[in-house]
Amino acid sequence: MGLTRSQIETLLEENRDHHCEGLGPHKVCVRIEAIAELPSRFGQFQIAAFYNNRDNKEHVAIIHGDVLEAEDVPVRVHSECLTGDVIGSLCCDCRDQLENALRMIGQTERGILLYMRQEGRGIGLINKIRAYALQEQGLDTVEANLALGFRDDEREYSVAAHMLMSLHVRSIRLITNNPNKINDLTQHGIRVTGRIPHVMPPNEYNRFYLETKAVKSGHLIDTFGKIRLPEQADPPQVEGMDEEVLAVIRKYYK
Ligand SMILES: [Zn+2]
Ligand SMILES: [Zn+2]
Repeated sequence: MGLTRSQIETLLEENRDHHCEGLGPHKVCVRIEAIAELPSRFGQFQIAAFYNNRDNKEHVAIIHGDVLEAEDVPVRVHSECLTGDVIGSLCCDCRDQLENALRMIGQTERGILLYMRQEGRGIGLINKIRAYALQEQGLDTVEANLALGFRDDEREYSVAAHMLMSLHVRSIRLITNNPNKINDLTQHGIRVTGRIPHVMPPNEYNRFYLETKAVKSGHLIDTFGKIRLPEQADPPQVEGMDEEVLAVIRKYYK
């Protein structure tokens, strides 16, 4: 059972004139503008669209079940990836991570996926494609990595924290393989009561993670012989993944 009609109306009403001091150094304030049903192949969801006072990014919360005033709500923070999420690109594992999180949340009593419209970890689509091109030209991947690695973490977590507050979530369990991410949200006033490891089942697209030979000279090499750049804030983990591969991956996601 998701949010009821009257809960939705109350939320929209209190958000209509919402203004606050804002979170973090950027004083980010968001408000819910619209909520609708979103049945999906991963389960029954509702979608809440947010306005924020800092940029024109329209972030959304994908909600399953009744999350209002709820404790220990499983929450996943996902950064938008047009090429992976939509096109199914194999240059990254964003789509696998997204699908797995939605499936996981859709099957539990309640949960939220925050879909952050921050393409390429905040550097934008053009810069992300530039980083891909740099790699193709055989350029030092450290450079490409740096280009892609730059991001405004602070802003992302301020927005995410405020979105959770707007939804009256009392406490969360973060779906992540990076325990450091718990601090980011805690610092913005979110009570994190636990962590749920985000372990993906193996499939034909992520199988290379399971093969130790995927790790070469301290890099993670995918099935096309290319070095994988970290695109989500979270190290990928596939069921049965080798400890050696995990260690290499973690290095990228400090
Ligand atoms: Zn606010
Ligand atoms: Zn991606």
